[in-house]
Amino acid sequence: MTNSLPAMADIWQNSLNWLPNPQQEQEFQRLYELILAGNRQFNLTRITAAEEFWEKHLWDALRGVAPEGRFMRSLLEGAGVIDIGTGAGFPGVPVGIALPNCEITLVDSTRKKVNFIEEVLTKLSLIRGKTVMGRAEEIGHHPLHRQAYDVALIRAVGSAAVCAEYTLPLVKRGGLAVIYRGHWTDEESTALQNAVNQLGGRIELVERFTTPLTNSVRHCLYLRKVATTPGDFPRGVGIPNQKPL
Ligand code: SAM
Repeated sequence: MTNSLPAMADIWQNSLNWLPNPQQEQEFQRLYELILAGNRQFNLTRITAAEEFWEKHLWDALRGVAPEGRFMRSLLEGAGVIDIGTGAGFPGVPVGIALPNCEITLVDSTRKKVNFIEEVLTKLSLIRGKTVMGRAEEIGHHPLHRQAYDVALIRAVGSAAVCAEYTLPLVKRGGLAVIYRGHWTDEESTALQNAVNQLGGRIELVERFTTPLTNSVRHCLYLRKVATTPGDFPRGVGIPNQKPL
């Protein structure tokens, strides 16, 4: 197994109309090496082969913040971004490397993951990031975090209704929650509508795309915050999962 990430300049250019500069390429490589080293100590991700890491962790993270193949304008201007259930730092860390004007808050409920990300942040120079250890159900009520972010990201943390309940309370009015999904159907959008309405959001866009190397189907759900989230949300720890809206 090679420990060098592929460059993939054509794919970055064609899919995102963007190319990492040499410093960003170095930081992606550094992140990859830190994840490989971290994996030797504890299980961070099963995606370790270079091309798979590039596609599923780097490209996928950035494609989510580039609906229709263009980086969101607010992110280019330096938005406040929160990544809920970031695990080993995805999608938030690659987003922070690619868009270094953004301030990224990386949240996870597991101490060892937060410790790992803190170490990553000290070793990468481009990203402006900080960590918060805690549960989305609690952070969503904290005055420092509630309705404080332009964009909230969430990947592989629960059902879409759970992800909406974790993210929308954190987003400012007018801001966006981005839910990364694999397969998705129109029926699921119809079912999600009710949860999103209760949380003060609206489903603005559901985008389907395929990944560039393995042609795997992905979806991103873009939820616009159109009204203040009622104070009851998010509900207490564990309830969004047990009784999804
Ligand atoms: N987002 C990463 C990714 O896509 O690679 C990690 C996904 S991992 C399957 C789910 C992560 O969410 C875990 O690290 C877990 O600790 C965290 N998590 C689960 N429920 C959470 C909650 N209620 N609040 C904060 N973090 C949570």
